[in-house]
Amino acid sequence: MVDAATGTMTWVPTRSAHTRDERANRRLREELAAIDGILPGSVVERRMRCGKAGCRCRADPPELHGPYLQWTRRGPGGRTVTRYLSPEQVERYRPWFDNARRLREIVSELETMTLHLVEREEGWETAP
Ligand SMILES: [Zn+2]
Repeated sequence: MVDAATGTMTWVPTRSAHTRDERANRRLREELAAIDGILPGSVVERRMRCGKAGCRCRADPPELHGPYLQWTRRGPGGRTVTRYLSPEQVERYRPWFDNARRLREIVSELETMTLHLVEREEGWETAP
């Protein structure tokens, strides 16, 4: 509803039917507040070929080097930054990689929720 004093939207439900939405909204905000770190980019497992002539990675069939855990992200100026991580590092930083994904989900859920709220507030709802 619109707060008369400030003129801003708040999550105070106007009808009991909205309590469920308010609870879901609070849950999302609590989850959001608990996020302590976020790592951008993605980690992929890669097997590679080296430049050494006669190496097993050039045999038929080839035995590629690796697997290497490659972390790629966009750096300053949009250039790609690549780091190789050990399995231990991937495990250690996993919560922060997971947070990046969860943050996108939360943003999307809050967006949908807010859209519904606005549709309701403005009487734009088409559903019965
Ligand atoms: Zn090789």
